[in-house]
Amino acid sequence: MGWLDDETGLGKCAANYVPLTPLSHLNRAARVFPDRTALVYGATRRTYAEYRDRVTRLASALSKAGVRPGQVVATLLPNIPAQAEAHFAVPATGAVLNTINIRLDVHTVAYIFEHARAHIVLVDTQFLALAEAACANMEGGAPRIIEVADAQAGHPASGEFTEYEDFLATGDSDFDWVMPEDEWESIALNYTSGTTGHPKGVVVHHRGAYLSTLSQVVSWRMVMHPVYLTIVPLFHCNGWCHTWMMPLLGGTLVCCRQIDAPSIYNAIADEGVTHFGGAPIVLNTLINAPDSERRSFDHIVEVFTAGAPPPAATLAAIEPLGFNVTQVYGLTETYGPGTECLWQESWDGSEGDDRASLKARTGIPMPFMEDTTVLDPGTLEQIPMDSEAQGEIMFRGNGVMKGYYRNPEATAECFRGGWFHTGDIAIQHPDGYLKIVDRSKDVIISGGENVSSVEVEDVLMRHSAISLCAVVAKPDEKWGEVPCAFVELKPGAETTEADIIAFARARLAGFKTPKAVVFGELPKTSTGKIQKFELRKRLQPA
Ligand code: AMP
Repeated sequence: MGWLDDETGLGKCAANYVPLTPLSHLNRAARVFPDRTALVYGATRRTYAEYRDRVTRLASALSKAGVRPGQVVATLLPNIPAQAEAHFAVPATGAVLNTINIRLDVHTVAYIFEHARAHIVLVDTQFLALAEAACANMEGGAPRIIEVADAQAGHPASGEFTEYEDFLATGDSDFDWVMPEDEWESIALNYTSGTTGHPKGVVVHHRGAYLSTLSQVVSWRMVMHPVYLTIVPLFHCNGWCHTWMMPLLGGTLVCCRQIDAPSIYNAIADEGVTHFGGAPIVLNTLINAPDSERRSFDHIVEVFTAGAPPPAATLAAIEPLGFNVTQVYGLTETYGPGTECLWQESWDGSEGDDRASLKARTGIPMPFMEDTTVLDPGTLEQIPMDSEAQGEIMFRGNGVMKGYYRNPEATAECFRGGWFHTGDIAIQHPDGYLKIVDRSKDVIISGGENVSSVEVEDVLMRHSAISLCAVVAKPDEKWGEVPCAFVELKPGAETTEADIIAFARARLAGFKTPKAVVFGELPKTSTGKIQKFELRKRLQPA
């Protein structure tokens, strides 16, 4: 133990110990860079002094509206300034931020409102109908809606609810932020689709969020004043903690509501964007953009991509356009990126397929993670690092969530044996780098968003003609993966692919709806379990 013989008077006190929180970054930036641009959205430009003032007024307004420390404040917002402000203001009241995916269906949003017991929800005008329908579908008390209008995007206030700017006006600029007393206090609650039908609420703390911001600065080799474009939705795992990270570097956050090629190229050329994160689909959007949508720029844009390794063809096409792509890997449970493909100097001269295969590696723990490796999920023994043996990726360290909200069983299960079990299958190379080869959990990742196959199967099983079904991931050039349904029909029943897709579409969010249906007997084990790996194999390109 590293204690001196006599530790008298060497304890923690207010002078030498402050709980870690990303809230400190914004306080510091407002002091050091009050006049630098903190946030850009279309014609809107805000300095750090203004950003902090708005955050303070939002925190005060929330507090006056009855939000107490430990309560949940939800958002249903695209990547607009209010979403960034909520990332600081909600924790600054001591409350917990619950950003909800705007593409979800009514029932899932209602489930999340109910499970999280959200007190207030900030809703973009475009998603008011979704929020209202979700509230109407709840059994318990519905959250109060504060409407965030976005006139410049064609969504003026409906007039039905308190509007965000009016709400801000009720807040005081001298409100004292509620800083955490313990860095283990929760900062955010993010619902993620798992192997069960209901999403699970991932709870993360101030300490982990703070460490993620520091850690990613190192991994991304960032210098002061980066210009960051919000492409990863801030509702997805808090946009990988990047909004909390920007004030640390006096950086500028460029909000992007509509993710398409012209918006991205314009932001790079006009605002000088230096960094963004995004699923590989974003890279393909940039590559496939017609000349009329492209803009030239003379710097290199650093890109973190996750969700799938960037394919060789994508890398070959995107790098000459001025982008340096680094594959990271992680989950909502690891605050976003937990491992990186740490580039070695000896790889510098590699080109073509060699370069792509190096970039397809990942698995080097980011600095805030103690260990990442591949273990046999049964015995928890290290698999041979021979580039062949397969096992499950495991994490251990300060970058792992606290657990799943109000679900101690799922928490204990995923932390079995002192490791966080990811459900992702990989091989490991002799130097410790790993390559993801499959997923053991029943999740399809379409356009960067998780789809629980079980949830889609539950819906399909309600179709009167279907006797059995299994939904698996089908590789897709645009979306990475799309759900594909294999179905067995009841004797004598008849239906069509279009009918089944329409049935699912009426009950599920668009990104969860199967894009193809295959009829026929399903392969089963001797105990009757459907062999999904067999179905996945059938969908692999020859
Ligand atoms: P989410 O929690 O929604 O961010 O999804 C996390 C899941 O995305 C992981 O468990 C993986 O299955 C997948 N994923 C993330 N990064 C990568 C990557 N670099 N390569 C392959 N799959 C990835």
